[in-house]
Amino acid sequence: MSRVTSPRLRWWTAAALTLAGVFVLGVTSVHFALPGSTVALWWPAAGLAVAFLLATDPGPRRSAAFVIGVLVSSAAANAFGGRPGLVSVLYGVANAAEVAVVHGLMTARGRLPRLASMDDLWRLIAATLAGAAVIGLLAGLTAHLVLDGSFLDSASAAASSHGAAVLVIAPLGIAVGIRRVRRPAPEDLVQWVAVVGVTLWVFHQDQPLPLAFLPIPGLVWGALRLGLRTVAMQLLVVGIVSVTMTGLGGGPFAAAREVGTIRPETVGALTQAFLATAAVTALALAVASTQRRAALAELRSEVELSGVVLDTAASAIIVVDVAGTIARLNATAARLFGAPEDQLVGRRAADVFPVDVRHAASPGGGSIADGTVPLHEEQDWHIEGLGVRHLVWTNAYLTDDDGRRTHLVRTGADVTDERAARTFVEAVLEAATATAIIGTDLDGVITLFNRGAETVLGWRAAEVVGTRDWSLVHDAAEIERRADELGIEPGFEVLVHRVRGGAATETRDWTFVRQDGARRTVSLTMSGIRDESGALTGYLGVAEDVTRRRQAEVALQVALDRERQAVEELTALDRTKSDFVSSVSHELRTPLASVLGYAEMLEDGAAGPLTERQLELVARVDRNGRRLLSLIEDLLLHSRIEAGRLELHPRRCDLSDVVASAWTSVETVTSQRELVREVDVSPRPLWIEGDPAALERMVTNLLSNAVKFTPDGGRVTLVAHPDDRCPDAVRVVVSDTGMGIPQADHERVFARFFRSNAANERAIQGSGLGLSIVRAIAEGHGGSVSVDSAPDVGSTFTVSLPVSGSAGPAPASAPGTYRDHQDDS
Ligand code: ADP
Repeated sequence: MSRVTSPRLRWWTAAALTLAGVFVLGVTSVHFALPGSTVALWWPAAGLAVAFLLATDPGPRRSAAFVIGVLVSSAAANAFGGRPGLVSVLYGVANAAEVAVVHGLMTARGRLPRLASMDDLWRLIAATLAGAAVIGLLAGLTAHLVLDGSFLDSASAAASSHGAAVLVIAPLGIAVGIRRVRRPAPEDLVQWVAVVGVTLWVFHQDQPLPLAFLPIPGLVWGALRLGLRTVAMQLLVVGIVSVTMTGLGGGPFAAAREVGTIRPETVGALTQAFLATAAVTALALAVASTQRRAALAELRSEVELSGVVLDTAASAIIVVDVAGTIARLNATAARLFGAPEDQLVGRRAADVFPVDVRHAASPGGGSIADGTVPLHEEQDWHIEGLGVRHLVWTNAYLTDDDGRRTHLVRTGADVTDERAARTFVEAVLEAATATAIIGTDLDGVITLFNRGAETVLGWRAAEVVGTRDWSLVHDAAEIERRADELGIEPGFEVLVHRVRGGAATETRDWTFVRQDGARRTVSLTMSGIRDESGALTGYLGVAEDVTRRRQAEVALQVALDRERQAVEELTALDRTKSDFVSSVSHELRTPLASVLGYAEMLEDGAAGPLTERQLELVARVDRNGRRLLSLIEDLLLHSRIEAGRLELHPRRCDLSDVVASAWTSVETVTSQRELVREVDVSPRPLWIEGDPAALERMVTNLLSNAVKFTPDGGRVTLVAHPDDRCPDAVRVVVSDTGMGIPQADHERVFARFFRSNAANERAIQGSGLGLSIVRAIAEGHGGSVSVDSAPDVGSTFTVSLPVSGSAGPAPASAPGTYRDHQDDS
């Protein structure tokens, strides 16, 4: 068999034991009934049964089973006590009905059986009375109908004996679940001894004096000091002692019977009255003092709680009474005043408030009693160590039961830092007069509209903030187009789609519609506003009016297109002109060659011997013809360079030979001039990869310039050597002591058709093509040309060419005939 018993089984066991107790107590009560009385003096069995149900509160089914058990055991007790069978059964029914009624009323509507308040006590008394009425009625009827006794006597005796028993014993059933009020103390023993001792003495057989009231003070002591549990137990003890001893003929009530002629039922009734009085008095006091103790404990913990709340509050809290004295303040307030709390309580608030009234938004004042203190105040406080702090006060009144104002509670928050930050942000927003800054909530309702937004859009902030949504300023058609692109519904979402999707910002051009209907192009940067947890709380749009800029961009584009068109037209024209010059030059070359041929024939005497004068004229025809031919060659070469068709035929050749041949070709010209000529060509071959004819033309052009621009008496020098500074290059240097070139023209001399003013003024022949051809040929060989010159000092032209194998020359070219310039001066 299991040693562990279930709660259910334990209950049945306890119920069986209780029912046995009911039987025993019933038998005892019948036995102890006063001689001559039809009913028992006390019926504790009823109290026990009710106490058991109240203590275990087992639910309807088991309660019903227990009530039936009460019926059986009560009937059995009566039968055992010698009462007739039918009477016993009827008394059993009456007992069961009483228990059911009391328990039913105590637990009606799902209530737990309690004795925590006066209401609970009233309920216990009412239930006891109802139970007593039921037992009284049934017992009275039984006595009258079956035993021929008096209905009233039996009814009242049963009602009072049962009522007193329930009232005395049932509280124990409720009190078993209550915690002890405090630890046992010597006082408890003294009180127990007093109650039990006094009761024993009062109801002692030899004590005839009417001192039934004496146990009451002891019970009251217990009720006030020891709590409900002790009171319930002591009531039971007093009940058992007084009833048993009265039954045995002791105590004042039994004595009264012997002295006078009162009936045994009256003795019973007096005993019940004594017990009921003792029970109601002691229970009422116990309940009241328990309630008081609980209320005090609650109050104390509430005071403690509010103290902790006050002292941990970040706001300053000051309680001021009607006289203007500080009644209480918290730690934050004490910190603001710069003094400990105990030094401030009791002082006049006006004396300690460091208010600078000049800076206070509302200087305060007003009377607490009249309720004229403003409920909201802002003040600047000079606080030591913190400087001037801006405090916002919220005031509230405390009133007494009559509605009179007794205190003012001032709650202050230091908003200096928040105000400073807000002022700064507001200043920044307002300063942005050319930039529209618009804030919205998550649905697009405008929450911020700065001065710039007012300027750009024409709306006033007061007209739109909180009332209008963002679509107010947008072109609906444009929003629809963008919604199509994004594949979403048109609306505010179009503007914030990217940002809501996680992008930090999105910038694009939009058309804003002003209040007057005008349209402005703006560059709008949209971003999300997030709280500390990162959740979106709204959006911020920063828009710049770019209408002018966009218009200017369009205008610039149009101008650029026009210019490009003009350039294309001019290029085409230039090409036509070059083609024309090229073909004209070409056409001129053949007849000119023929003219030169005939002149040579005349010179050679093919048409007979010529006189001196004729020879001279023919020589002049020949010179000018050659000059013309050179010009034509330059023009043709220039045309090819222009068309990107400078054709070179590179091969390995010795630059010394090329230079020497150029020197010879200009010698006919130089020989007629009074010039010092110097030539310094490297004795070792200067191998390069180049087109000898083109290179000879390049050197010839440089030499003929030197001769042209150097007056008689000057010097012309030609040097060709490996480059000292660069082992992979050779240098050809042509220098003179002629008129020189101003610094400003150094770069321009290589431009086609450039001729210096000096050259023009002195009518020095030339086309302005020579140096541009020199540069094209030098660069075509992977080299370069530079000039160093000063006016009236002379000029030095240096050509640098890569040696053979160090750098490839320009792409191949077709062969060409290059003739040197000739001066006809
Ligand atoms: P051209 O000699 O036919 O005028 P070039 O292209 O050969 O054309 O030369 C351009 C200009 O550079 C010359 O008109 C002249 O002003 C200047 N120039 C060229 N070589 C010299 C030089 N050796 N001394 C002074 N000026 C020169």
